[in-house]
Amino acid sequence: MPALQREVARLLGVREPVEKRVYIETYGCQMNEYDTERILRLLKGSHYLETKDAQEADFILINTCSVREKPEHKVYSALGRFKWLKEKRGAIIGVAGCVAQQEGDRLLDRVPYLDMVIGTHAIPMLPQLLQKIEFFGQRVCETGFDPEGNYLKTILPQKPLDKVKSYVTIMQGCDHFCSYCIVPYVRGREKSRSSREIIEEVEHLAEMGVKEVCLLGQNVNGYGKGLEEEIRFPGLLHRINEIEGLHRIRFTTSHPADLSGELIQAFSKLPKLCEHIHLPFQSGSDRILKAMHRGYTKESYLEKIDCLKKACPSIALTADVIVGFPGEEEKDFEETLDLLKKVRFDDLFSFKYSQRKGTRAAQFMDKVEEKVKQDRLSILQEIQKGITLQKNQELEGRVEEVLVEGRSKQSDQDVTGRTRSNKIVNFEGNLELLGKLVYVRIKKACPHSLRGEITSAQDPSICNLRSAIYNM
Ligand code: SAM
Ligand code: SF4
Repeated sequence: MPALQREVARLLGVREPVEKRVYIETYGCQMNEYDTERILRLLKGSHYLETKDAQEADFILINTCSVREKPEHKVYSALGRFKWLKEKRGAIIGVAGCVAQQEGDRLLDRVPYLDMVIGTHAIPMLPQLLQKIEFFGQRVCETGFDPEGNYLKTILPQKPLDKVKSYVTIMQGCDHFCSYCIVPYVRGREKSRSSREIIEEVEHLAEMGVKEVCLLGQNVNGYGKGLEEEIRFPGLLHRINEIEGLHRIRFTTSHPADLSGELIQAFSKLPKLCEHIHLPFQSGSDRILKAMHRGYTKESYLEKIDCLKKACPSIALTADVIVGFPGEEEKDFEETLDLLKKVRFDDLFSFKYSQRKGTRAAQFMDKVEEKVKQDRLSILQEIQKGITLQKNQELEGRVEEVLVEGRSKQSDQDVTGRTRSNKIVNFEGNLELLGKLVYVRIKKACPHSLRGEITSAQDPSICNLRSAIYNM
């Protein structure tokens, strides 16, 4: 509270609100990280400031993900860890996100010291729910879906904003209903934010010094469906590309079945759109893709990759893949490996199939043994490791445009940043370079990053130079 306001409040006998601390533990994808940021901004209005130390928190929130593995177990074990803080300090304890959405009241029943369960659409209600707990000692569970999409609204961040890049959610939910996936059940159906709200948020971030945005959605290609305005995802990208001060645009995730020619062309037309696409294929076997309800074949996926490479030869490709889906036989797995070798992804996120309660695949009979899944995963990861290193080695000797993001974790003398193709580069430099685009010559390729040497700093205002990779 500013001094004058504080003095007036004192004279009027108004007590200053007590500042409290919130600690949030976040699991899962970028969507959850973004939700955590939104929650923190929202709670600032209720005088809760973030702490990184759970022991000093008045409110502990576990923001959960239930896409894979055993998310409920993870939540119960985290709750067990925080129980003593409830007993010692009377901290309020809550669970948010996908597990909260899925489990609802069951969580409150099973954990007597849990105060709050808050579903994916209920984030805007958080301050009121906290009040119910603080003032009336109620335990609360809010897991309704909100067809109006109010849960997508966000409070714009205030200065100081000490980051160079930021996520911006453009849509949530999914209408695809892949047979293995829990997302449509815990995030609801596809819902887009209006382009006006998104543009305002990106403009605001750019004014605050953010140089790169990553547009988030479970299926960004579905953007615009159901909105009153006539706009689709490529149109939104064109508008964001015009925003002054912003250097780079990324997005995730695209569904291959919905990847339009217009979006592919955007990579060759929009200078700020980085040359990288994350395009999950899940399996290389048409039989498995059908059982997964993915809506494309191996051939049509490869055709799209071909179009992307033609439109933008320097494009970096990453993807998700699942091994051990029910019914996957050795020959199906071979098809997956074949796809991997044909595309030569820059990087790959590979998962063992994990049964999700309530999905269609959970009822499929021919489950694959755990050991087989693990063996297939290891084989696939070994092959990909070789490809990723080769792709990185292809960059040795080249000069890359790098956006400097901060100090390197490996050395105090080094800074770190990413190429337009999203590869991590570490090189000697100081923090004056933070937020700047610089040219870095790649000296050495490592399995997960690149080592380089700065050749020149570029005036950030001339970011339209589309010089992702070139030989100097
Ligand atoms: N919407 C994106 C798409 O369709 O590609 C992916 C979103 S999903 C949250 C992220 C990744 O988790 C998926 O691409 C898939 O590979 C993986 N995934 C989802 N459900 C899974 C399951 N039941 N078992 C293993 N992996 C799963
Ligand atoms: Fe899940 Fe499929 Fe939707 Fe992706 S497209 S979020 S995998 S249902």
